Amino acid sequence: MPYLEESYDVAVVGAGHAGCEAALACARLGLETIMFTVSVDSIALMPCNPNVGGSSKGHLVRELDALGGEMGKNIDKTFIQSKMLNESKGPAVHSLRAQADKQSYTRQMRQTLENTEHLTIRQAEVSEIVVEDGKLTEVKTFSGAVYHVKAAVLCTGTYLRARCIYGDVSNPTGPNGLQAANHLTDSLKAHGIEMYRFKTGTPARVDKRSIDFSKMEEQFGDKKVVPFSFSTDPESVQKEQVSCWLTYTNEQTHQIIRDNLDRSPLFSGAIEGTGPRYCPSIEDKVVKFPDKNRHQVFVEPEGLYTNEMYLGGMSSSLPEDVQYAMYRTVPGLENVKIVRNAYAIEYDCINSLQLTAALEFKKIKGLFSGGQFNGSSGYEEAAVQGFMAGVNAAMEILGREPVILDRSQAYIGVLIDDLVTKENYEPYRMMTSRAEYRLLLRQDNADLRLRKIGYEIGLISEEEYEKLLWKEKAIQEEVSRLERTNIGTSAAVQEFLSLHSSTLLKSGTTLAELVKRPELDYFMLTELDPNRPQLPEDVQEQVNINIKYEGYIKRQMQQVAQFKKLENKKIPADFDYSQVSSLRKEAVQKLNHLKPMNIGQASRISGVSPADISVLLVYLEQMRHGGGKH
Ligand SMILES: Cc1cc2nc3c(=O)[nH]c(=O)nc-3n(C[C@H](O)[C@H](O)[C@H](O)COP(=O)(O)OP(=O)(O)OC[C@H]3O[C@@H](n4cnc5c(N)ncnc54)[C@H](O)[C@@H]3O)c2cc1C
Repeated sequence: MPYLEESYDVAVVGAGHAGCEAALACARLGLETIMFTVSVDSIALMPCNPNVGGSSKGHLVRELDALGGEMGKNIDKTFIQSKMLNESKGPAVHSLRAQADKQSYTRQMRQTLENTEHLTIRQAEVSEIVVEDGKLTEVKTFSGAVYHVKAAVLCTGTYLRARCIYGDVSNPTGPNGLQAANHLTDSLKAHGIEMYRFKTGTPARVDKRSIDFSKMEEQFGDKKVVPFSFSTDPESVQKEQVSCWLTYTNEQTHQIIRDNLDRSPLFSGAIEGTGPRYCPSIEDKVVKFPDKNRHQVFVEPEGLYTNEMYLGGMSSSLPEDVQYAMYRTVPGLENVKIVRNAYAIEYDCINSLQLTAALEFKKIKGLFSGGQFNGSSGYEEAAVQGFMAGVNAAMEILGREPVILDRSQAYIGVLIDDLVTKENYEPYRMMTSRAEYRLLLRQDNADLRLRKIGYEIGLISEEEYEKLLWKEKAIQEEVSRLERTNIGTSAAVQEFLSLHSSTLLKSGTTLAELVKRPELDYFMLTELDPNRPQLPEDVQEQVNINIKYEGYIKRQMQQVAQFKKLENKKIPADFDYSQVSSLRKEAVQKLNHLKPMNIGQASRISGVSPADISVLLVYLEQMRHGGGKH
């Protein structure tokens, strides 16, 4: 029977947060792109928390935006509350988080995708990949249709052989009861791809009318909203916002959970998959932190169009009667009505050590992957991987160099490097503590770090790039103006300093030196700086940070220079480590298996010691001078 047969440049399997970014990147670079999903109604679905961003995740979204991705713009158009987190701490951990109207978020992303040239959306389950001589040539759907492609990007998320579980109820479906994708895993295994079984969980959604908010702490958004996207006009995001609410579990909640652990699929072994350590279920928290007498519960609106409220911090897979009992012990939820039960979901994903830093399978040329399928967890982690995998599939088709960001350039670089060099036996979630150079990788300077790369890829417009060059110049000029502007010891200056409990001047100094004082900053010194030019707020912010943290930034730049030295020591892709006699057996095995690109990456592989690295450095040096063979 003849099947449907079509040809495209690239196929993207998945329309979740990873698939959307991958498909947009490929289509916007002019490639004929087909994006598959099991349900067109689930494009950019948010099956869990109703927000984008948060600690370190906000950094990822801003970096994605700087490079030319879509998530930042999409949330700026659909948020219902926005907050800059950790503002009382240093700028390295400031991070934006915005509550989304989930339906608007999906609708907005769908509109953008449906109106993108070179992009075809197809509701069909991809069930097979075809590989010839180590190169991907086709993807096939369950209906038997054949799509000839030059590359494919797998972004299947939590759908591969998905199973949703609570209590002794187990449904072979994807999130929100959507169809699972049950056929592709076998094809991937047949091509030698190593698969893992992971799990994650979500809390119940409850009816707002059944909540007593008077027993909770109201959480407001910021008065002045900062947009996620560097292209969004800040004025356009100043709007009315909704509130979130904070309440807590208590000993009664914990006792109900302890009394029913035998009915928890998590503890009865009914759940095989490995869950995220940093996103634990409430039963996990009660068991792991027995001394804690309460856990936070964030009650968040799912959107303006519904009364559904999300109970953040209480994800679970306990039976529904236990869910009711435990939720109703929480202040404000005494009469709560559950709209959707909490549940856990198990799904297939890959061992990401099978990927290069370009997110291409080492064994199958032209096959790329991104998102939860790579063993990560979170919308933001998924979106940045989808983008990078899409860009690199496009680069390969266009015969251009892959785009690889290292750990000193971006959180995206840290995320991907961790996935492709470190063993991840549980869903990987980004955290600021994972980034060595986090003072340089701030969310406020993502455009200064990455816009140029987005422009060179071809996903940032000339106009946006011009704006960046102007901003860079304005920052430099203002910093050097402050360094050149002398301040004397006049009465007005001394009065200003004492007003701000700042040490009086014994002799003249510069404005820049005053900015460095902990009790002062660039914004406060306007009074002493009559010739100050009118500058946009984002430029002022950079001027203030660059001067205030100059010493720390310099030190971190020196550390980066050391880091780069090892990153630039390339290792031939086909290097055989068994040739290096004094390398330890474990190191030889690990290095031959993972084939790191450079010495820096080799040094981050667990089981490879600093001594092994020194041996390797000497051997590679000898090889460069004609001794040693590889
Ligand atoms: C129940 C639940 C709880 C979660 N809890 C958390 C949490 O607590 N913290 C957190 O950070 N993240 C959580 N997440 C994860 C978060 O939702 C994901 O990280 C994010 O959605 C991943 O995006 P993605 O693009 O990789 O995949 P998804 O958003 O899952 O999208 C996958 C896409 O692939 C399509 N697809 C899959 N297989 C095929 C196929 N064979 N053929 C065609 N199309 C296919 C689907 O239709 C869908 O469009 C949770 C997810 C779920 C479902």
